[in-house]
Amino acid sequence: MFNFIKISKLSILITILETVTHNLVAVVIQILCFKYFLLPFNIIFTIIFAFLSHIIVDGIAIITYHTPEVQKGDKFWIIWHVIIIGLSLFSIIFFAIPYWLGMVFANLIDIWDWFILRPIQKRKIKRNIESKWMDKYYLHKIVDRFRDKFLGWLPKWNYKRAGILFEILLIVVLIIPIILIG
Ligand SMILES: [Zn+2]
Repeated sequence: MFNFIKISKLSILITILETVTHNLVAVVIQILCFKYFLLPFNIIFTIIFAFLSHIIVDGIAIITYHTPEVQKGDKFWIIWHVIIIGLSLFSIIFFAIPYWLGMVFANLIDIWDWFILRPIQKRKIKRNIESKWMDKYYLHKIVDRFRDKFLGWLPKWNYKRAGILFEILLIVVLIIPIILIG
């Protein structure tokens, strides 16, 4: 079982770094939904599948190299994270038109938890207001539960540099269908 506080920190980092993966999955989902479903089902299924994809991608992120703490003196860590942040930003700019719908819903859990809920909670804590009640609204709890239930067998490679290989493979595997059918 994961300690939620601990996994939250991990999830924040994975959040920003996995944006490229979330975006690529979203693009594939939107392409397929718009290819095989008619209005309004193409939109409805894009929204549903994109939202659910976040849970799965975050769930398997445990086997990618993302340490919960910043490794300041570690060149490998710095270079890899510069690359992955760059790719994340690039994927937002490159795919936003026309895949913004899938991308918004594929990142919705992150947007809600880290850019809406967490800043509000932080401000409350700063003002010495006990705000633990908000904990239950973090959507990454679903991810943690999903991971515990279905992906408990995955190796935890957050500290293993080789974990970048899986992430690179995942990105390549996602880009292929985008090129072929996009
Ligand atoms: Zn997330």
